[in-house]
Amino acid sequence: MNVEEEYLSLQEQCRKKILKSVYIMTGVLFGMEILIYVLMKAFHTGMVENDLNYILFYILTPSLINVGCVLAARFAVLGECTVQRKSQALILCILCICLVTATFHGLFLMTSCTFVIPIIVSIMFDSRRLTGGTTALSVLFMLIGACTASLFDNTWSLKYRILSGLVGAVLIVMTSTVCMSLLYLNEEKNAIIRKSCRMNEEMQHALKRDAMTGLYNHTEFYKRLDQHYRECHVQSGQLTVAVLDVDFFKRVNDAYGHECGDAVLIRLADVLMEYCQEYGEVFRYGGEEFAVISRRLSERQMAERMDRVRKVVNELKFDFMPEGQLSFSCGIYEYQGDKMLAQEIFSRADRALYRAKEQGRNKCVCHSDL
Ligand code: GH3
Ligand code: MG
Ligand code: MG
Repeated sequence: MNVEEEYLSLQEQCRKKILKSVYIMTGVLFGMEILIYVLMKAFHTGMVENDLNYILFYILTPSLINVGCVLAARFAVLGECTVQRKSQALILCILCICLVTATFHGLFLMTSCTFVIPIIVSIMFDSRRLTGGTTALSVLFMLIGACTASLFDNTWSLKYRILSGLVGAVLIVMTSTVCMSLLYLNEEKNAIIRKSCRMNEEMQHALKRDAMTGLYNHTEFYKRLDQHYRECHVQSGQLTVAVLDVDFFKRVNDAYGHECGDAVLIRLADVLMEYCQEYGEVFRYGGEEFAVISRRLSERQMAERMDRVRKVVNELKFDFMPEGQLSFSCGIYEYQGDKMLAQEIFSRADRALYRAKEQGRNKCVCHSDL
């Protein structure tokens, strides 16, 4: 999992946790409605004129609307929509619950304060657009609440409701400003984390590679050889290593200079990648020596492929060097599963390479033919 995916999964977990909090919030609201009813019945008998009406309008209706909102949010959050839609649905659900509370219990100071909750929740999703939109909707829903509250409760005068609305609006805007600053800080922090992850990935990549040719380096060769060697004992499959050494490469340097020598090595690396990466991994073992590890080819198959590459290399042309001047010798060994150090696999391929050199160079020799 890369950093972006980890971040998205963290947000997904966060959404699910908030959804659970909303379930609890809805349950607590329902419990409070009942508690208020019981307390009013016990201490202010006159306030509940008709039990059925009260239960229907002040307990069941708001609770059912809340449950409807929660189910819609649950459907979105656990469903297949985009991450933005999921976050929006969750925030909208909380906004609606606030509106229901303000409507059924009057828009007094306490209920208008609840409209800051969706704004605080929205900052968890690291989107200034979402927090901005939530702020606008919070103010709008609070205004709607100021109007709809009068449908159910006339205890609070219009003047008081307007005053509460104003205090609530100031609170919402102040909360939103603080949240926007937090979001800015978080964005900057995320940018620093992303940059450092990128640098880390680049460093990891550079540690494995040879800077000049871009192939895997000597350290990576032994790491992978060891890995394949271990895997070989668990799963079936071949493990064949080819070691290549450019013939008389010192002469190339002496005749055309080191820069041209480098250009030859880079070209050779490209050819090896082009012809070998399909069935194995290519390494610059060191200097003018390369290696290929394959889990798919037998010794003979590898010898055939390397012979093909050898012919291609023989025909390579450079601005500074005529065709037919470049060749390499190659030694191949296929591991047979016997007990030995992984390094011995390389040593055996290297022994075959020395035989190829002794036999006049520009050829591939298999260890089984020694
Ligand atoms: P042989 O056929 O026996 O392998 O002969 P050779 O000349 O290739 O072997 P030798 O070991 O004598 O020389 C290898 C040369 O490769 C010497 C060294 O300067 C050169 N070399 C090693 N790494 C690099 C490199 O990164 N760039 C360049 N230009 N030359 C390199
Ligand atoms: Mg050499
Ligand atoms: Mg050489």
